[in-house]
Amino acid sequence: MKPDVKPILPREVPENYRLGVDGWSFPKGKLMEKLADGTRKLLTLDISISPDSFVEAVNTGNLKGLQDRVNHFYNQICPNNCTGCFEKGDIKHNLLSWEEVKKVLNEARGLGLESVKFLGPGEIFTNPNLFGILDYFQENKIKIGIFTKGETLGDDKLSRRYQQMSSEELTRKVCNYDVTRILIDCRTFDARKTNMLVHSLSGDYSRARNHAIELLVENGMNSDLFCQRMSLQTNPVTLENIGDVLEIFIWGVERNMPVCVTPTMVSGKGRNFVSETKGSEFQKELIGLYSDIYVHLIKRGIMNLNQLEQEGVSSYAGIMPCNQLSCGMYIRKDGVVQCCPGNDGEPFTLFEDVRKKNLREIWTQSKNYALGPLFNNRCVKDGYSIPVQLYDEVLANVKKELKKL
Ligand code: SF4
Ligand code: SF4
Repeated sequence: MKPDVKPILPREVPENYRLGVDGWSFPKGKLMEKLADGTRKLLTLDISISPDSFVEAVNTGNLKGLQDRVNHFYNQICPNNCTGCFEKGDIKHNLLSWEEVKKVLNEARGLGLESVKFLGPGEIFTNPNLFGILDYFQENKIKIGIFTKGETLGDDKLSRRYQQMSSEELTRKVCNYDVTRILIDCRTFDARKTNMLVHSLSGDYSRARNHAIELLVENGMNSDLFCQRMSLQTNPVTLENIGDVLEIFIWGVERNMPVCVTPTMVSGKGRNFVSETKGSEFQKELIGLYSDIYVHLIKRGIMNLNQLEQEGVSSYAGIMPCNQLSCGMYIRKDGVVQCCPGNDGEPFTLFEDVRKKNLREIWTQSKNYALGPLFNNRCVKDGYSIPVQLYDEVLANVKKELKKL
């Protein structure tokens, strides 16, 4: 069952049209920008914001018991219980409070920060301080991409429970902040499968998710061809949903919604899915999926082969390549600074605790900064959940397929 949303992409695709959520990746010129002292800008951060009551509950007690308290209190802040939840990874230090996160963000503003992505823990729409948080981003003109399962936005009972208003009102209020970007989970349109992926509180997650997508569209989140404010997240792509992803991608394209396609994170419980991605069956299907996506985009007039050759295949199939590493960092809920959320292995840790050093030093001494202004930084999951040969094989497949036309 699909959401009831009409296609809006014109038959003749406008010049310079691109698929990519505004504020997620940056154009080449932007990546080159420097501060007055010559420091390359830190344009984006991935961040975790824990609700105050969770911070208090987890931080009360000795350090040894931190992980147990995170696990114990987690179901109070997240209505879902996804098997691949990357946020349920190791925790090393006390959780950052919202005040501490703001301190980091204020430092980052001085380094040129333009956007963040909220990753958890849990759903921001269940946080009692939701509007205090959004006010901060609006006042400081920082775009905030919000990863969400969408259930609270699309179900009246839940929106009233967590934000004391109808789901229509909640979605309208959230969309009225012009800094918000909504990154909504959509791993399959199959209702039965959808409901198996999330431990729903509404009793019918598939219905709530579809309604949330419809409400976002009613509020204009997909209406501007040159400023895409919502996207569909098919990740993690696994053997379970890989057969459904191309349909979602094409559906999203026609509705000006970039669809994010990528295999599992190599972080937290996402690591449980990595072994599956090593199998030849999955790798073959994944390379086939990426190839089909690019062939479709070229046939539809959204990309051309020359552009693909210049930019290289994106780790997010078909949409703006990732440059998160070359212009950003990830601040975990316990203050650990990582290259990005995609891999929590030791080589991808940039600094132990953001509270212990100023952000400028962490940024300028990081391996992300050393990458320079790379437009396509490929991915920290390469060789883990993304097969290393994917980039070359996809390009070769696309060329071969186009020759047949
Ligand atoms: S992945 Fe997100 S929605 Fe699922 S359990 Fe983790 S925090 Fe909650
Ligand atoms: S490097 Fe990979 S995991 Fe990290 S932000 Fe980019 S696409 Fe995501």
